[in-house]
Amino acid sequence: MKVYGRITVFPIMPARINRLYELAYNLWWSWHPEARALYSTLDPQLWERVGHNPVRFLSEVRPQLLEEAATQPEYLEQYDSVIKNFDFYIHPQPDETWFSRTYPELTGKTIAYFSAEFGLHESLPIYSGGLGILSGDHCKEASDLGLPFVGVGFLYPQGYFHQRINRDGVQEASYDKLHFSEVPAVPAIGPDGNEVVISVDLPGRRIYAKIWKLLVGRVPLYLMDTDIPPNAPSDRELSARLYGGDHEMRISQEIVLGIGGVRALRALGISPDAWHLNEGHAAFLSLERCRELVVKGLTFNEAREVVISNSLFTTHTPVPAGNDTFSYELIDKYFASYWGQLGLNRDQFIELAEEMQSWGPMYGMTNLALKLTGQHNGVSALHGEVSRKMWQHLWSGLDSDEVPIGSITNGVHTFSWIAPEINELFGRYLDPDWGRYVDDPEFWNERIAQIPDAELWKTHNLRKKIFVDYARKKLKQQHLRVGEGSLQIAEFDQMLNPDALIFGFARRFATYKRATLLFRDLNRLRKILNNPEKPVQFVFAGKAHPADEPGKSLIKYIYTLSRSEEFRGKIVLLENYDIDMARYLVSGTDVWLNNPIRPYEASGTSGQKAALNGLPNCSILDGWWDEGYNGKNGWAIGEEREYHDQEAQAEADSLSLYHLLETEIIPSFFQRDANGIPHQWLATMKEAIRTCAPQFSMRRMVKEYTTRYYVPEIRQSLLVEQNRYERERKLATWKERIRSNWRSLELYVDGQRNGQLSLGETIDVHAWVRLQGITTDDISVELVYGETTDELAHAQYALPMTFSKREQDGSYRYDIQLKPNESGSIAYNVRVIPSHPHLTEKYELGLIRWA
Ligand SMILES: *Cc1c(COP(=O)(O)O)cnc(C)c1O
Repeated sequence: MKVYGRITVFPIMPARINRLYELAYNLWWSWHPEARALYSTLDPQLWERVGHNPVRFLSEVRPQLLEEAATQPEYLEQYDSVIKNFDFYIHPQPDETWFSRTYPELTGKTIAYFSAEFGLHESLPIYSGGLGILSGDHCKEASDLGLPFVGVGFLYPQGYFHQRINRDGVQEASYDKLHFSEVPAVPAIGPDGNEVVISVDLPGRRIYAKIWKLLVGRVPLYLMDTDIPPNAPSDRELSARLYGGDHEMRISQEIVLGIGGVRALRALGISPDAWHLNEGHAAFLSLERCRELVVKGLTFNEAREVVISNSLFTTHTPVPAGNDTFSYELIDKYFASYWGQLGLNRDQFIELAEEMQSWGPMYGMTNLALKLTGQHNGVSALHGEVSRKMWQHLWSGLDSDEVPIGSITNGVHTFSWIAPEINELFGRYLDPDWGRYVDDPEFWNERIAQIPDAELWKTHNLRKKIFVDYARKKLKQQHLRVGEGSLQIAEFDQMLNPDALIFGFARRFATYKRATLLFRDLNRLRKILNNPEKPVQFVFAGKAHPADEPGKSLIKYIYTLSRSEEFRGKIVLLENYDIDMARYLVSGTDVWLNNPIRPYEASGTSGQKAALNGLPNCSILDGWWDEGYNGKNGWAIGEEREYHDQEAQAEADSLSLYHLLETEIIPSFFQRDANGIPHQWLATMKEAIRTCAPQFSMRRMVKEYTTRYYVPEIRQSLLVEQNRYERERKLATWKERIRSNWRSLELYVDGQRNGQLSLGETIDVHAWVRLQGITTDDISVELVYGETTDELAHAQYALPMTFSKREQDGSYRYDIQLKPNESGSIAYNVRVIPSHPHLTEKYELGLIRWA
């Protein structure tokens, strides 16, 4: 039949356990396995069939099972304990527990976090990979910390695809329709008591989005849905899929996310004090905020000052092609009626995001985000460095070291990723309440040795057994589906050996991740895999974007090998990598392998999940591992360098990988004592936990975001409010004055140009500036110096020079004594930059005059 409406009807719940509903509607269960068990244990088969979704489960469970459970003492005890913890978590009394409110001073404030994807649980496929998992984990930790945080995104009715691998190793994508009545989300209600629907204008039409509210512990997530009746059929499809469709669909989705997202918050009566753009997809939100202020009577430049003062942009993409750009044709089509509302003409609007590509100028979302936020960061130290170089051209005249893009290294939400058995082990040997100390390195330093080797080994092997069983089941399902015979199917009952050294490799099949690096020298690999005394196996999993043909051919290659006589059982490929499978893989293999092309992995997080569960990483020194590796907590493939030639890089990295396998990893794993315990290996496991669990936790990460970015943004918002935009108005006028007079600025320097100096001696440097329309209050004159090599001079230090006097000829003189604090070759220069106490960051104007 043709469907008009769809309603989920729940059975009548026995009163004794009626809070199972409420619990189902808070994603808190996604990081509390004991809460999920309240559903799964009632009917494990149904639990599998409904994809671990408690809301669907409740709608389909046989009422009799609920009735029975309501009389079972054991079940009720579990139930009461979960409900008690849930209440304690959701409504902690002040001072009752460490997590009641980590930031009491932020009460009443709001931090808004925009992301195109959120990876919270496998039953909610609105994520594609690392970016989404990061957003999901960020929300969960914000909830744990009691941060006043709201997320904004999309509820894609079909989400990201479900991967199947057919008999020929070809990836097939299928999309399951997600029925929102079966999702743990409810329509968001506005202050007027009505469901919230917002609209945005697209070319020739208006489209509407309904807002759904999803609870992630104490954090609400507002998700937009365009699949509603007033919209034309094509618009109802608009948010159907994550990263599906062409550029038109993409720009439309981003308009709904950015512009619609701001309108959704307004309609809900939420006024954020801090704004966080997670990746460039949401950059239009800054335009919408400007538009709101222009409506209030500010000029665009004034509005921009307000907007940048309290917004942060996190970039994730070190590959230029990974940054979203749109053609001017598309911008004209979609924004022709919008730029006027900002008080801008077309050229001014385009200039905000102009980005030169080899084929011409494009409208770049990363550019736009960088220009319309005051604070920016990358997601690991190395990625910060790469981003500063990549976007240096936006701050012409600045050394890349000084480009205002910082970095906060990604982390993972500990309780979403720790295996229950490892959690229990930590509880026994570290502290029953160890979760409280997750990000405290001291805690881990002191206590990790308290875990007996034999216990860690036993627990790890238990996880390994659970993983192997899971993998066998999945492989059987997959091959039954493609129609293999019973003989072949029976083979999967023996697939993977729990006593072997098992490597895990799972991530998106993007080509830069080089999933097939291991196979560069098949002869050498064959030897590694065929030692009966020391069995070694590799498990692969991951999706390729449906439009990524090279990515899909990597899958086919690995699949074909895995089915070949020679590598069968030694190379295993699992289909449909998702959060559920990730939980098994990162705790049930022995080593986590990652070999991207440095420096293309902005951070990577799966290795952090693995390390938390005691799996050492064997990885390229890229992203987080460049910081995480300490020589004892895993292995580093290759060197800390980049190559010009990717072929040479792959050759060097694969040789290094084989060498590590042969000489270090395999021998260490199989070196056992009389009881079969590999003490040296366990030392590496413990070192991985000790060093990575605190440092790469989401707790450490969210706290860093809060102190470095959110708190200052909130402070700025308060100032904006108190000043009623007066400060920003003045700042905008000041910037306009500086910009229009900057070209007239002249700078002369007098100081020693060549020569030698003994450490402790000084040289006098003088500078004269001539100004028109600018005063000495508007500038800062700096002596910049640093180490130098033949080609490069580093701007390591920037010291303000002192204004001494106005000369007869009208120029202004500045002095300083340069006193090098180290021996060696140094270079120096003098520069002038605009200076104003209200700038969010020093180089904001991108104006600089060097002598
Ligand atoms: C953690 C995770 C990722 C990200 O892994 P990377 O190592 O950053 O590529 C992707 N997909 C799933 C399902 C994950 O759990």
